[in-house]
Amino acid sequence: MRYDIGLDVGGTNLSAGVVDEEGRVISHAALPAGAGRSIDEITADMAKVSLMAVENAGLTLRDMASWGIGMPSYVNPRTGLLVHANCFGWRNVPIYRYLEPLIALPIYIENDANCAVLGETVAGAAKDFQNVVMLTLGTGVGGGIILNGRIYSGADGLGAELGHTKLFFRGRKCTCGQMGCIDGYCSARGLKETAKEMLTDGTLLWDLCHHDIRKLEAQMVTEAVQLGDQTAVEIWDLYLSQLAAAIGNFIAIFRPEAVILGGGVAKASDLLLNPLRKKVQESTFAAQEIGIPEMRLAQAGNDAGIIGAAVLEKYGIDRREK
Ligand SMILES: [Zn+2]
Repeated sequence: MRYDIGLDVGGTNLSAGVVDEEGRVISHAALPAGAGRSIDEITADMAKVSLMAVENAGLTLRDMASWGIGMPSYVNPRTGLLVHANCFGWRNVPIYRYLEPLIALPIYIENDANCAVLGETVAGAAKDFQNVVMLTLGTGVGGGIILNGRIYSGADGLGAELGHTKLFFRGRKCTCGQMGCIDGYCSARGLKETAKEMLTDGTLLWDLCHHDIRKLEAQMVTEAVQLGDQTAVEIWDLYLSQLAAAIGNFIAIFRPEAVILGGGVAKASDLLLNPLRKKVQESTFAAQEIGIPEMRLAQAGNDAGIIGAAVLEKYGIDRREK
C-alpha cells in the first residue's frame, strides 16, 4: 500500500493527514497556523503537524511516498517561488528551500483551491471524472479546474481564478481591485450586498437582521426564503440567476463532466441545486440540444484539501524551484 502526507495550510489551522492509495484519509493531525510568526517557525510547524499525522497512522516516514501541501497562494512554475500568501504576509518566498531540510520526501506544493478540486475528483463528488470545474461559494468565490485528469492553472500558475472573471462591465468593485467580478455577486459577501440593495422594511428579512442593515448576513436570506418571505425569494432568485450565468460561461469554455459547488452558500443545498440546474439549463450555450453537465455539491469537506495535496505527485504540476 502506498501512503502520502497531505497538508492543508489555512490562515487559521494547519491540517495534515496520511492518505492511502485509495484516496482515504487514514489519520489526522492539526495545529494552529499561528499567522504573524516567522517563516522558519511556521514551516517548522508544517513539518511537525505532518509528522504527527504519520505517527497517528501508526506508520513511519519511510512508509510515505511524498509530502503534498496546499497553500493559500500560488507557486510560480518558472521560479518555484511562493508568490503571495496574504494570511501570512509572505511574498515571493523560496518555500522549497525552507521545507526540504525538514522532511526528506519529494515535496509538492499547489494552491489550496486546486487541491480541493483535485480531492473532490479523487475521492469526492467528482470521483472518476476527468474534466471538472469547482466553485467554492464562501466569503469570496474560489475556483479550480481539472482538465483531462490534471490540475489546470495556466502558463504561470495564476490561471483558474474563476471568481475574478467578469459578470458585469463596470459592476461592483471587487476585493481584487477590478469591477464586476463574479466574486462580487456569487460569494456570500456578494449575496449580502444584493440583499442590502433589495431589502425593504416590513419584511421578514428586515426582522431577522433586527431592523439594522449592518447586522444582515448572507445566510439570513436563505433562512427568510424558507420562512416564505417574498423579498428574500426575489433576492435569492436573482443570486441564482447570476450564479447560473457564471456557471454557463464556464460550461461554454470547458464543457466539464461535472460542476461541483462547495463553500458556505452551498450549505443551503435544498434551495440551491434544483433551481440552479433549471437556470443553468436556460442560460447555457447549446443546453437545449446537448444538455448540461452534472451539477453536484462537494462531498469531501475539509478532507478535500488534504486528499488533493497528498495526490499532487500523481495529478499535479511540479513547481519545484528551477
Ligand atoms: Zn475580482
